Amino acid sequence: MLDRQVESLKYVGPQRAARLKRLGIYTLEDLVWHFPRKYEDRRHLEPLARLVYGEKATVQVTIRSWEERVVRPQLKIFRALVEDGYGQGYALWFNQAYIKRQLPPGTQVFLTGRVGHRYKGLPVLQVEEYEVLERGDQGLHTGRLVPFYPLTSGLGQRWFRLIVHLALEEIKGQVPEILPSFLRERYGLLSRYEALRNIHFPSDEEALRQARRRLKYEELLLWELGLQLNRSLREQSQGIAHTPDNTLVQQMLAHLPFRLTEAQERVLGEILKDMESPRPMARLLQGDVGSGKTVVAAVAAVKAVAGGWQVALMAPTEVLAGQHGETLGRLLAPLHIPVVVLTGSTSKGERQVILSGLATGQLPVVVGTHALIQEGVKFKRLGLVIIDEQHRFGVGQRAALQDKGEVPDLLVMTATPIPRTLALALYGDLDISVIDQMPPGRQPVATYILSPKQREYAYRLIRRELAQGHQAYVICPLIEESETITAEAATAMADKLQREVFPEYRVGLIHGKLKPGEKEEVMQAFRRGDVHILVATTVIEVGIDVPNATVMMIEGAERLGLAQLHQLRGRVGRGTAPSHCLLVAGGGNEARKRLEVLANTQDGFAIAEADLRFRGPGEFYGTRQHGLPEFRLAVFPDDIRILERARKDAQKLCSEKFWKSREFEPLYRAVLDRLERLESS
Ligand code: ADP
Ligand code: MG
Repeated sequence: MLDRQVESLKYVGPQRAARLKRLGIYTLEDLVWHFPRKYEDRRHLEPLARLVYGEKATVQVTIRSWEERVVRPQLKIFRALVEDGYGQGYALWFNQAYIKRQLPPGTQVFLTGRVGHRYKGLPVLQVEEYEVLERGDQGLHTGRLVPFYPLTSGLGQRWFRLIVHLALEEIKGQVPEILPSFLRERYGLLSRYEALRNIHFPSDEEALRQARRRLKYEELLLWELGLQLNRSLREQSQGIAHTPDNTLVQQMLAHLPFRLTEAQERVLGEILKDMESPRPMARLLQGDVGSGKTVVAAVAAVKAVAGGWQVALMAPTEVLAGQHGETLGRLLAPLHIPVVVLTGSTSKGERQVILSGLATGQLPVVVGTHALIQEGVKFKRLGLVIIDEQHRFGVGQRAALQDKGEVPDLLVMTATPIPRTLALALYGDLDISVIDQMPPGRQPVATYILSPKQREYAYRLIRRELAQGHQAYVICPLIEESETITAEAATAMADKLQREVFPEYRVGLIHGKLKPGEKEEVMQAFRRGDVHILVATTVIEVGIDVPNATVMMIEGAERLGLAQLHQLRGRVGRGTAPSHCLLVAGGGNEARKRLEVLANTQDGFAIAEADLRFRGPGEFYGTRQHGLPEFRLAVFPDDIRILERARKDAQKLCSEKFWKSREFEPLYRAVLDRLERLESS
């Protein structure tokens, strides 16, 4: 029943079914798991008589009659006399000729809009949204908390509500409970079906809260059980015992231009020990921007190569892959270990050479992007997989690279400051190493907040630094999440800086719309010092390392989160020269106060926490961008208590022979199901 196709529902034809598929909805089950994004409280509708000029309101009315007026050829007003049982008023539409046909006199309709000036002594609503009420509709679209869904074009809210409602009726009594009853009782959780029903059509706020609580717990328990399952599978499987001989590793360390910090030494110890053990390694290396993760990864790579194994390092962007390729190449050159780079823009000929070198085992180390997980890429003896900025990849992509070997060791790296408790719970299948110390000689990046009027000051400071042979970044504000428009703005800014402000220097430009080859070229020029000022969109955020750059100027800083600004700021202060971060921000006092956190601390964790305070719960950890897995309902840190409970319960369940017990079979199957879906994502 649950896996019945949506087409089998009344009101769902082939065309709408196709649109539903775009939302990932194929079956009735998919449909009822497509949750509302918000609810509108339609229990308290405004009587017409109480409408207040200038305010927004929703009313439920009956259309009585229409009048139409042509103001200018381009401006037609359609005005309906409406009635709500207590009084009358007018509803107003502009230029929408079809509206009269859609809403003939007698139609009952919901209208949402802004209250305008009175007309003939009656209140007027300028309609923004309307929704027709049909007989039998009562109870779905009105007089209740009404759900609104994330939909795609061509699908209406009313229709969607209706088919969800139908689906819920159809599957009644057929939604199996997967939580063991003792857990449901312990926490007083709704049944699975009740929860699904109430998340779509809650009778009141409390019902909604209970539905959410149940479904969040379920999704987090499944997540935690999945982690446990993965971990126990890994612990049982035979991995690679890398050579305990560290001669080559010592050689490499001797060639480093610096000494490792204590923190680097410590995590390296953890990693090398893991690698020597026959148990497969799965380790998360966490460390603030600039803490020196790359060199640690390079040492791990050398250890693998010393025993005759191959190493693959995957990074999320071509620029970053290119940079890592260069860094690793330099670090490994004294040992005569070649490093190659494979990305989408590697030439065909070169690609052939690399592929065959990897297949024969002649090439020991490859750095690349997603290009590494393509079909044609084969390894002779892949022994270590390293993933940088791991949150930019899906679980499936991580697994795809690992599948290129037998059971290679895995090292994933992240600069995202996630509080430890949360990291433990969310990445419970990984062991965690933290570099909690910066290389010596780093000076805090002096951070200033400027108003747009003080831009001249920023330019003076940049000029002073350039005169001393340093380089600068200028970051363009993000415009409406549109990469194209942002890229255009960046281009305009680069032009202006080059022509009007810094004609005597070279200004380079990098943004998301450039071809990968072009990006790499600009980055190379900046690294060589041929480009003095790099104008960039936030693409620069991930991992760029040019120690000679000492100024980071960020336009429109008020639009970015503190954690993201911290990442950007981390691009400077990488050498021993004092560095500066200039935040140009509009947006008044509130924005300024938030940015002051950055001026006052360099500690990524403190900044992450402050970000949270300022942006309000739910926003900060809401998206994958911030380095956490995405959940349907749970948001962090709001739901950290549910997560921790789920984690404890999962541990307990597993110790109770969960995998074998009959009682837990539905839950076990749900876990496998979820894992499978993750792997294929
Ligand atoms: P991240 O952890 O952000 O990836 P990187 O690995 O890019 O940081 O390192 C940042 C910079 O610090 C690099 O230029 C690197 O060469 C340098 N670095 C790393 N470790 C040390 C150290 N122990 N002492 C001095 N400089 C170091
Ligand atoms: Mg890095």
